[in-house]
Amino acid sequence: MRNVSKVFSNGTLALKDMSLDVVRGEFISLLGPSGCGKSTALRIIAGLGGASTGTIDWPSSKINSRGLPEGDVGFVFQEPTLMPWQTVLGNVYLPLRLAGISKSAARERIMDALASVGLEDFADAYPRELSGGMKMRVSIARALVTKPKLLLMDEPFAALDEITRQKLNDDVLRLWKQSGVTVIFVTHSVFESAYLSNRIVVMKARPGQVFADMPLENSGERDADFRTSEAYRAATEKVSRALHDAIHAGGGTH
Ligand code: ADP
Repeated sequence: MRNVSKVFSNGTLALKDMSLDVVRGEFISLLGPSGCGKSTALRIIAGLGGASTGTIDWPSSKINSRGLPEGDVGFVFQEPTLMPWQTVLGNVYLPLRLAGISKSAARERIMDALASVGLEDFADAYPRELSGGMKMRVSIARALVTKPKLLLMDEPFAALDEITRQKLNDDVLRLWKQSGVTVIFVTHSVFESAYLSNRIVVMKARPGQVFADMPLENSGERDADFRTSEAYRAATEKVSRALHDAIHAGGGTH
């Protein structure tokens, strides 16, 4: 992101001069108080809303009409946003269907994506038959089925209970390690960001800007032992302090 600003039509200055260089293979969390522009930044990166000024530069030379590298970006929303009239398989098929690939040709890729989130036995189930965590897994499989190089996740686990959330955190870390995908993960949870990321970008509000850019040592295993380790405690303390300072520097909506 190069000096990206965003002014909404009602005059809200959501982002001001935000610049961010993302390195291939990173797991970045965008952390900040509600209203600081995290979702706006993610949506602009995804091409879901234009920047008012500034640019998004991609390393890829093949850019499509929406200004995105072809097939390179997957997006997971806060809600699973599944089509209730389609099976799990039909939902995960959607991005490939939009790309003009027939269902029979897509089947193996769909089943691989479902297996990667542990849902291979639920291909024929309908969303109403699934728990909240399983619906979110379908949403992740749908984002991964195109094998994107960049995965954008907008507070995907905020509505889930703590245990399901921790399980999905571990699943996302496993998928990240296996696939080498670059992840930008929006959250307002210090604990989640410190568990997942190897870099945390703390944002401040009014206007939305990068307040602190913090690398985290992330070489060891992330597991139940890590959650109770001194390293995790120290990381959460460092990140909490930065978030506290960001809130006092810029405020939030709550
Ligand atoms: P966050 O994801 O950090 O909670 P958002 O990116 O959703 O923050 O919002 C940043 C600011 O922009 C907030 O003040 C929000 O009210 C405002 N905003 C977001 N979307 C719109 C919109 N479509 N129209 C007007 N204002 C918006």
